[in-house]
Amino acid sequence: MLKLLFVSTSVGPLGTGLGGGVELSLYNIAQEMRRRGHEVQIVAPNGSYFESLPNIVQIPGELQMIAQSQERNASIVMPGDSVLANMWEYARQVQTEYDLIVNFAYDWLPFYLTPFFSCPIAHFVSMGSLYEAMDRTIKQTADRFPGTLGFYTASQAQTFALDDKCPYLGSGINLSLYEFCAQPQKCLAWLGRIAPEKGLEDAVAAAKITQIPLKIMGKMQDETYWQQIVAAYPDAPVEYLGFLSTSEMQQQVRQCQVLLMTPRWVEAFGNVAIEALACGVPVISYRRGGPAEIVQDGKTGFLIEPDSVTGLVNAIARLDEIDRYTCRQQAEIEFSLEALGDRFEKWFGDILN
Ligand code: UDP
Repeated sequence: MLKLLFVSTSVGPLGTGLGGGVELSLYNIAQEMRRRGHEVQIVAPNGSYFESLPNIVQIPGELQMIAQSQERNASIVMPGDSVLANMWEYARQVQTEYDLIVNFAYDWLPFYLTPFFSCPIAHFVSMGSLYEAMDRTIKQTADRFPGTLGFYTASQAQTFALDDKCPYLGSGINLSLYEFCAQPQKCLAWLGRIAPEKGLEDAVAAAKITQIPLKIMGKMQDETYWQQIVAAYPDAPVEYLGFLSTSEMQQQVRQCQVLLMTPRWVEAFGNVAIEALACGVPVISYRRGGPAEIVQDGKTGFLIEPDSVTGLVNAIARLDEIDRYTCRQQAEIEFSLEALGDRFEKWFGDILN
């Protein structure tokens, strides 16, 4: 039995969606570790809430700026009363009570602090390379503490060009929360944070060309970006449903013919891909980053040329080649909580040995 301290992302309270897919990953890993008999304490910004994960240690302070909006040569910036610093001060104080601290924040500070802690720290890196200061501290930590960095996927890890052989941990979901739907309605789905790196405008363009309604769900992170899309495609058949709970979201997604993934960046994983597959919904994605490692081209969706709206439209026309049951099966085989728990448990064990 391990005593684990999970230190959350500092860009938003858990449950708000501001942290993106790493919120769901942290939640699922915590659930699965507890089910296996490990003790897990979560530390997160004030206002964090997760159903059936009580007793989150709530830490006050100002939120960290999101890394996606940084220039490559950006300096490290932290607010005066930083929730990130406050969470790590808490971790410092309680570290002797734990076997391992697990960092879920894509931030410079926890990497920098690693040699100053007596308790070992595992860093779960949730995005690809975004700016140089972060790349440098990640490389230094990987060199000094081999094996302590974990990534979602190989294509994500490659963006950091590390010498260390790091584990690829993927993701996993509670499959019982996602219901299979064999007969979809004539509509498309798009899921995720509404932010430029997600390329939503391409999915909207594809909806306009095909005239198939597009349901958009996810956290409104960049309102200006959204308004630009609305202005550029005033007559596209799209509907924004808001940021939904997992239960509400899967009720919508499972009725759709397909999930469109249009990332401009190297998407580290794409939790939404496996959530769609779990409902039997195929995924059409640009052949880039995590989704290219998840989608089985021609079997559980289509991988197409990046940034090609024509590619999206052509793939939508071929959806009847995909068996929705095969999609659900892929999720069951590769992305269950058990499979996720095995990978994380092995990673934690390797670090502690
Ligand atoms: N999501 C949600 N409600 C919504 C739309 C999305 O809870 O209405 C969640 C989804 O479950 C996923 C996350 O938002 O966990 C998006 O994560 P993903 O890994 O796809 O991308 P990221 O935001 O990390 O870049």
